[in-house]
Amino acid sequence: MAQNELVFAALGGIGEIGMNLAVYGFGDDRRRQWLIVDCGVSFAAEEHLPGVDLIMPDIRYLLEERRNIVGLILTHGHEDHMGALIDLWPRLSVPLYATPFTAALFEAKRAAEPGAPKIPVNVVPLRGTLSLDPFTVEFITVAHSIPESNALAIRTPAGTVLHTGDWKIDPTPLGGAKTDASRLTALGAEGVLALVGDSTNAVRDGRSPSEADVAKSIAELVRTAPARVAVTTFASHVERIRAAAEAARATGREVVVVGRAMERVIMVARETGYLDGIGDFRGADVYGYLSPDKVLALCTGSQGEPRAALSRIAENEHPEVTLSKGDRVIFSARAIPGNEKAVDRVINGLIAQGVEVITDRTHLVHVSGHPRRAELVDLIGWVRPQVLIPAHGEALHLSEHAALARRAGVPQVLVCRNGDLVRLAPGKAEIIDEIPSGRLYKDGSLLVAAHSRTVGSRRRLGFSGMVTVALALNDKGVLVADPEVELVGIPETDAAGASMTDIALDAVEQAFESLPKPRRRDQDSVAEAIRRAVRSAIAERWNKKPICHVHVLVV
Ligand SMILES: [Zn+2]
Ligand SMILES: [Zn+2]
Repeated sequence: MAQNELVFAALGGIGEIGMNLAVYGFGDDRRRQWLIVDCGVSFAAEEHLPGVDLIMPDIRYLLEERRNIVGLILTHGHEDHMGALIDLWPRLSVPLYATPFTAALFEAKRAAEPGAPKIPVNVVPLRGTLSLDPFTVEFITVAHSIPESNALAIRTPAGTVLHTGDWKIDPTPLGGAKTDASRLTALGAEGVLALVGDSTNAVRDGRSPSEADVAKSIAELVRTAPARVAVTTFASHVERIRAAAEAARATGREVVVVGRAMERVIMVARETGYLDGIGDFRGADVYGYLSPDKVLALCTGSQGEPRAALSRIAENEHPEVTLSKGDRVIFSARAIPGNEKAVDRVINGLIAQGVEVITDRTHLVHVSGHPRRAELVDLIGWVRPQVLIPAHGEALHLSEHAALARRAGVPQVLVCRNGDLVRLAPGKAEIIDEIPSGRLYKDGSLLVAAHSRTVGSRRRLGFSGMVTVALALNDKGVLVADPEVELVGIPETDAAGASMTDIALDAVEQAFESLPKPRRRDQDSVAEAIRRAVRSAIAERWNKKPICHVHVLVV
């Protein structure tokens, strides 16, 4: 009889920060039961993927195994952990589990998305335990940058895995929870086979500053602000919203919320008790009536998103909210890699209007929600895993986390990639197979495979434009009308001032004339000869080769 094994694989989130999706399998190699953890997105950088909004893990392997999936658990409500669910869940249709805030945030997001299907979420209480045979999953509270981040202790007959999710240690959080060190220590005493852990800040020494320190710094900046203050942060960062609100209250300012994503999170946070003790906020409609020293605007747009509140304010395009000389904007966030340029554009736009901009480069107005090196060592000390697999990081973060774990005495450290199937038990942990993995692009309302040609040709079009040529021939291969060319995205003239359209037309005519007469009756030969000639004629003047489509009609 084949032996039961415990296996792990990531379909996203290893070798990258984003689109987290991990699977744990238990059974023999003919039949395994699977547990999915998280289902997130990555954000596409416009210059690499024109027209693509989001990137998601390719789940074709899970679709094949759909009958053997016992459930999908969300560790917390960040987009890199749950952002792909609305698109992917309808294909999977497996039971979903999340703690109350995450479930409510997901439902609020789903309800706001036009045409999104109904997606039932089973609510698990904080510190709850879920039995999804053959897995028993205990939710362990950890501090992070959104309410209710959970590490998962996944117990199986072959051993226990601690899947950390996103976490850090914060001894003085602001209304949020502390990382449950005593539960983690108890788990370590019970015996942990493997730790699959957050590597985001494995390159940063020491410990994260506390949310309480950030709040102090924000309070001071609000207190000393001469006129209006705007604070921007991640919409889901409820502790930071609390910090801004407390700073406003201490200085007699009203909080005006600007931006739908933030309104939504605030509604969910109030429902679930995470803004208890914080007075009501006002809508953007009252902003213009409040005197400058009596208002604090809480804005979306900390990532430079072009349609979010702060970008529109910076462009002077917001219908209700304006900022001007002497006002102060606090960036209580850091740009996610890929968003730096967009954030700089907003900052520069504000400065051009005379607005003072404060960032984490000069003031403690932001801390990351991920563990630095001393915190990673603490966790290893509590949990004492036999095996550690670095996750949630790019190659550099994973290798630093791995080196740190080895130095901290973890007997076996395994760096793997998306799609690697790792056997955790029995025996030494090792990569035993590869499962299909990849990326899907959200392109308009469709999901397209990353390896399809769509986005590649769009990028080429954006880089070097397109020429379309139309020719009409009779069945003897004689031109019956003047050829037509159309140029899109190509300079109108060359350096000497000659028309590019004429250059293309000349190339068409010369290529046609130079074809031997019998070949002029072969549409494909005509098209190919003209395509080559047009591309090289334009490349000679421009040093770039456009896409060229030739249509030959036989009339
Ligand atoms: Zn997170
Ligand atoms: Zn994350």
